[in-house]
Amino acid sequence: MPDVVTDLPLLVYGPRSTAYDFGPAHPLTPRRFGTGVSLLEALGAVPNLAPEPATDDELEWIHEARYVEVVKAFSRQPFADHRAGIGPGDTPPFAGMHEASAAVAGGSLRAMEAILRGEVLHAFHPGGGLHHAMPARASGFCIYDDPALAIARARRDGLRVMYVDLDVHHGDGVQAIHWADPGVLTFSIHESGRTLFPGTGFADEVGGAAALGTKVNLPLDAGTGERGWLATLELVLPELADQFRPEVIVSQHGADAHAFDPLAHLRITTTAMGAAARLIDRLAHRHAGGRWLSTGGGGYDVYRVVPRTWSLVWLAAAHREVPASIPEAWRDRWAAGAEHYGQAPIPTTFEDEPNAGVPRSVLDDRLDDRAIASAVAVLEQALGLLPKQ
Ligand SMILES: [Zn+2]
Repeated sequence: MPDVVTDLPLLVYGPRSTAYDFGPAHPLTPRRFGTGVSLLEALGAVPNLAPEPATDDELEWIHEARYVEVVKAFSRQPFADHRAGIGPGDTPPFAGMHEASAAVAGGSLRAMEAILRGEVLHAFHPGGGLHHAMPARASGFCIYDDPALAIARARRDGLRVMYVDLDVHHGDGVQAIHWADPGVLTFSIHESGRTLFPGTGFADEVGGAAALGTKVNLPLDAGTGERGWLATLELVLPELADQFRPEVIVSQHGADAHAFDPLAHLRITTTAMGAAARLIDRLAHRHAGGRWLSTGGGGYDVYRVVPRTWSLVWLAAAHREVPASIPEAWRDRWAAGAEHYGQAPIPTTFEDEPNAGVPRSVLDDRLDDRAIASAVAVLEQALGLLPKQ
């Protein structure tokens, strides 16, 4: 833990990060840390907060005690009968899963505490962002909800928190856990639940009775591209922040909205993802005294997309220019793996060419226009419901 104020963001990564591992056939592979962290290090980033497990008491701020006991039981005996969302499919049991999952939660929690103590303005936890975990069940590769826990920690200090979820999947767990709290504004932009897991995140999900307008959802049609996605964020986020006046920002930078991602159907670029990260940085400085915790999230192209996305988030948090090209030594190191997993060639630049080189038609352009039109409607609805701070 650093004891001096530093210009560089805290980078949360350590030996326990790769223990969050559902096995070799699972898409959320720890291989992403090999490619991702080595590219961060090539930029000059130094991991300086190694995640350790959050305590049971801390986990129980947002999870039911009986659920934590279920996870611990699987952790000791992974071949037990399936329950609480842990079983065959997306979120299988594995030995040591409690400790590994509690460490992801602990990483985001300690990073938030460092921010709250004023030791750093920004922290980035690439292994975090497990936004589907619910109070009493696992879901969508997520056991414990680290962004929701970091938010809960800031709420214990009475701070108003804005959560921005850029993952291609709806941030349903974070929304559910803070549903009734008017001091937590959650914003999620994602592929529509009509075509993608978890099937929620529609514009009419606006928060509990005492918190109307503090839960904001922007579902996008499959095929929406970088123009619609980024224009929407630039339209909505500054206005929401102006009205809500967050005192800390937590963001989730799942890389799975990218055009190359194998599990979803948006067509976003790393260029747009980097611009979104810089927008969030600006909002953190404008409203929240700079307090900003960013996390990773989904992202299943671990050679071409995840490392560049993480790098662009870190560069935004480090207030550094995007380098002209990706170090050749790094590309050489990972070229064979990229080939082996069908994720080659590795691009030569951090930012993609327009539309990541995927041609777009007039029909595709209409999807971008639709995204912007629905953003206008969602923003109007939220501003009508949100109390002015
Ligand atoms: Zn900043």
